[in-house]
Amino acid sequence: MTSKILLYYKFQPVADPEAVRLWQRDLCEGLDLRGRIIVSPHGINGTVGGDIDACKAYARKTREYFRGIEYKWSEGGKEDFPKLSVKAREEIVSFGAPEELRVDEHGVVGGGTHLSPEEVNTLIDARPDAVFFDGRNTREAQIGRFKNAVVPDVDTTHDFIAELDSGKYDWMKDKPVISYCTGGIRCEVLSSLMINRGFREVYQIDGGIVRYGEKYGNDGLWEGSLYVFDKRMHTEFGAPDDPNFVQLGHCVHCGEATNQFYNCANEPECRAQYLSCPACRDEKPLCGECAKEGQAER
Ligand SMILES: [Zn+2]
Ligand SMILES: [Zn+2]
Repeated sequence: MTSKILLYYKFQPVADPEAVRLWQRDLCEGLDLRGRIIVSPHGINGTVGGDIDACKAYARKTREYFRGIEYKWSEGGKEDFPKLSVKAREEIVSFGAPEELRVDEHGVVGGGTHLSPEEVNTLIDARPDAVFFDGRNTREAQIGRFKNAVVPDVDTTHDFIAELDSGKYDWMKDKPVISYCTGGIRCEVLSSLMINRGFREVYQIDGGIVRYGEKYGNDGLWEGSLYVFDKRMHTEFGAPDDPNFVQLGHCVHCGEATNQFYNCANEPECRAQYLSCPACRDEKPLCGECAKEGQAER
């Protein structure tokens, strides 16, 4: 029996998120799928895994309501998820701006212009003043980002509005700005928030870093690893020994190049994920802050 994982999102008005939540839960239970799904008045965002035929049936049924939804199929299955979680929330991505986001049957209203990976390169060639703007958390950008990208100082997506309102990025308001994130969903919202705040020329990458990396590997404008939200914590484009791959991350203890994040061993007090080389991880499995505190006590 072959199994698969489906990843998807769709922005469209949902009149009754709670009813859609119940329908999605029953649909997944009936097909023996596991994963995480969020429904909001703005649409749906999910990732589910299970038997390939069950995934196909799920995709077909879900498309009856979320018309035009696109699925990304990936390796894996039910066992990659601890359980099935289907929730109705105010937002499918937590920017803390549910009142500000507007969606209609075509998607987000007033978002950034979509660019294919090829169009990203064309724009950068034609407009030397164009800037990449990282739409992820600062931690994710530590191991990989677009060339010369501006990386905002955010721990979670919730921090973006204050960051944009701080004035730090006002110098970009008249320049072409290419926002980017892992698969594109965060920039659907972020680009609209930027436009609302006076950024005049905002773009977003269709399919995000994933699609760009699949197209250009390490031979384009992307550098380093891609942070991912599963056990692996990072993934790379191109062959494992690609000479064009650059290691951007550094061990917080000794500075050696690394792209491996670890959870700080001082759980649950500290929930930090930090970069470490294997040797330092063996010696002290603590984040930079907790390691410092430990020394002070001694
Ligand atoms: Zn180290
Ligand atoms: Zn820690």
